[in-house]
Amino acid sequence: MDNKLTTIRADFPILNQDVNGEPLVYLDNAATAQKPLEVTEALIHFYETDNANVHRGVHTLAERATEQYEIARGKLQKFINAAEPAEVVFTKGTTDSLNLIASTYGQQVIHEGDEIVISIMEHHSNLIPWQQLANQKHATLKYIGLTEDGELDMADAEAKITDKTKIVSVAHASNVMGTINPIKELTEIAHRHGATMVCDGAQAVPHTAVDVQDLDVDFYAFSGHKMMGPTGIGVLYGKRAFLEATNPYQYGGEMINFVHKFDSTWNEIPWKFEAGTQNIAGAIGLGAAADYLSQIGMDNVASHEQELVDYLLPKLEADEDVEVYGPANPDKHTGVIAFNIKGLHPHDVATALDMEGIAVRAGHHCAQPLMDELGLVATARASFYLYNTKQDADKLLAAIAETKEFFS
Ligand code: PLP
Repeated sequence: MDNKLTTIRADFPILNQDVNGEPLVYLDNAATAQKPLEVTEALIHFYETDNANVHRGVHTLAERATEQYEIARGKLQKFINAAEPAEVVFTKGTTDSLNLIASTYGQQVIHEGDEIVISIMEHHSNLIPWQQLANQKHATLKYIGLTEDGELDMADAEAKITDKTKIVSVAHASNVMGTINPIKELTEIAHRHGATMVCDGAQAVPHTAVDVQDLDVDFYAFSGHKMMGPTGIGVLYGKRAFLEATNPYQYGGEMINFVHKFDSTWNEIPWKFEAGTQNIAGAIGLGAAADYLSQIGMDNVASHEQELVDYLLPKLEADEDVEVYGPANPDKHTGVIAFNIKGLHPHDVATALDMEGIAVRAGHHCAQPLMDELGLVATARASFYLYNTKQDADKLLAAIAETKEFFS
């Protein structure tokens, strides 16, 4: 992989720049990933040669645009091993996908007295839609807790998921602690109780091979921009039977079969959920991102990031002035590492690191209930991807040491 890294980095021109007089070290991949040339070129190519609206025209450009859009859907289907392209709905991203499920399927199946189970480590996108649905329906929202080590407490999951549970919705990987959750096991528990399993895959799909059929999840949501695709495009995967049983989310063009004056019928899945003109170029760009990652191989992506975590995490854990949150075992960790330098505000840390050209995030990471659970207000967060190197990790360690010295 090391030999390949130079070639891979050349695919990302944005990485080749100085920030504050230092070479950029981009460690904010959990927020959004950089885009390879293959993706930006796919966008330019579409707009320069094929741009037209899809599904509506019989002219050549419209046919080409439609073909490209549907080819992209097929690429995403293969990328997550969905059974058929119809199970891939294009959305704006993870937030949009999760709101779609809560506002349609959730509205249909949740009634007074029912229970929805999520975890305390959820991103607000996989929390507020369920919280609001539960409030509206007089249902109960339950949270699966954490172990001491920042892993999902599976004994608590067994206790919280009961025959009253109608929906379980949990992140595949935490965007704060990097914890990888046992989704297959959770799905088995949910199904044993007759509940529907939803998974927020925003932090998993970009970093590891995901097989939705093997996981057996009923719905799975993810964003394009975190997996090197464009912003404003994402996917809602749903098993055919679930998508067919779900009412449409929005009404308008494309999603109909027939419209009569006082009644209408809906198009087939997935188009039933794609009302109005979609992000056509975004979908094609996302298809190119899936191609790019597939060519490298998701197992290679995962093992490269694992190497970086194996290298960095023990060094950070060993530093007495640094507090690291999440599993201490690198094997249970994605390339997302949340930390604080004792006595310093994470915003000051992030600003100091930026002066060294290092981009990290600081804040509550859209996970305020998790912050409360950890007794924190905010953390710094370094998140790695395919194009990051051990030198990036070393630069982060050196800049942390300098920051400590500067503020001491
Ligand atoms: N879920 C998780 C775990 C995330 O990390 C994020 C984004 O950071 C989201 C959901 C929301 O993704 P988006 O803003 O692309 O909709």
